[in-house]
Amino acid sequence: MGYDCAMARWILHVDMDAFFASVEQLDRPELRGRPVIVGGLGPRGVVSTASYEARAFGVHSAMPTAKARKLCPHGVFLAPRFARYEEAAAATRAILSAFSPVVEPLSLDEAFVDLTGTERLHGPVERTAQEIHRRIRTETGLPCSVGLAPNKLLAKLASEAAKPGGVHIVHEEDVDGFLSPMPVSRLWGVGPQTARKLAERGVHTVGDLRGVDASLLHSWFGPTAGAQLWRMARGLDDSPVHSVRDAKSISQEVTYPEDLYREEDIARELRQLAMAVATRLAEESLLATTVRIKIRWADFTTRTRQVRLPEPTNHPVLIADEAVALLRRGGIQAEVGVRLLGVGLAGLIAATFRPEHLFVPSQLGAALHQVRSRHGAQSLSLGFPGEGHPRRGAGILDPGAKDGVNGEMDERGRGRGGRGGAGQRDRAVRLPDPDHGIPSGQGLVLLPARG
Ligand SMILES: [Mg+2]
Repeated sequence: MGYDCAMARWILHVDMDAFFASVEQLDRPELRGRPVIVGGLGPRGVVSTASYEARAFGVHSAMPTAKARKLCPHGVFLAPRFARYEEAAAATRAILSAFSPVVEPLSLDEAFVDLTGTERLHGPVERTAQEIHRRIRTETGLPCSVGLAPNKLLAKLASEAAKPGGVHIVHEEDVDGFLSPMPVSRLWGVGPQTARKLAERGVHTVGDLRGVDASLLHSWFGPTAGAQLWRMARGLDDSPVHSVRDAKSISQEVTYPEDLYREEDIARELRQLAMAVATRLAEESLLATTVRIKIRWADFTTRTRQVRLPEPTNHPVLIADEAVALLRRGGIQAEVGVRLLGVGLAGLIAATFRPEHLFVPSQLGAALHQVRSRHGAQSLSLGFPGEGHPRRGAGILDPGAKDGVNGEMDERGRGRGGRGGAGQRDRAVRLPDPDHGIPSGQGLVLLPARG
């Protein structure tokens, strides 16, 4: 045989301790032992990182800097130096890559490493975890915490348990004892709202949560979130560690056989492209933090515009809205037609761990993904009242198109037929405002793109 199907998974999570503040204390020894707060220094600034000395005063990240100054008037307040932090993060990633080819950075100061099957090369994983911890400390000079466990969920909780500066290992047989006493809010995706809902039903700890029937969780939170809570309560998580090296961005472009002049046509095509890239994003279990559009005019001048999203998302409607907003922000040159459009997503992160507002996936987004993956990318389009029907047959997407490569329209000779008329709009399926994510008042229509 030679292939061990039952090979135990070992996932390591590294989390640098008070990363930005630690880098400042490393570079400026006079700051060591003092409360250091790195963040926005302006009147509306927010704390990025507080050193442990500053945390003793109640300062924490995401707190307004003005409040931190009140709590800790003798603190050292510094603006972030991202270039320096990137450098330190790269040094850490290089150490991690020496132990496994599968490294997934979550942010500048956190990464997952898949250590499954590395024993033959590096010895027992427990020793590897200690060695990684030691090398990061000695080679970067920065403190970090390391968690080692059978999956990502537990590894992340283990590194939290190891803070500050330790190594915590959770073996399969320790999972129940490790999880049970934890407050449910420690589980990823369980934000204040979900935690409150659980508390109202007498569920405070992960142990309490494990005692709740799957059917009950289903009725409280719906099938998707209910099932995820049920699994997390048992420490179950089979999500893979994504080596994101090869997926820095996802984009799709279309060159049109006839130039587009009307803003509504351009917007509609952008929505189609947004749908295509959002689908690929979801297929790769990623969320995007940046949306870009690319416009090439008939005279071949090309513009790109991008916006950073308030929250990472894979929601096709949110992505489409941002793309269209970017279009409108830049203005339309009505007299020069549009020859090519592109939508790109960047700043991609793993969808495993996501903010609460995405924990219950939008039923609309999920439905769109489902229909399109079953019936093909052309089966369903997004439209908004007043924007009419997507031009059928125009802008057929090449699913193989990669970054910077034009996904040319197919050559099946489909013209610009099917321009949205009243009859077609009548066929549109009008949905009630989805549970979230769609700006209210913008009644979304799903348009079956037959023919
Ligand atoms: Mg950290």
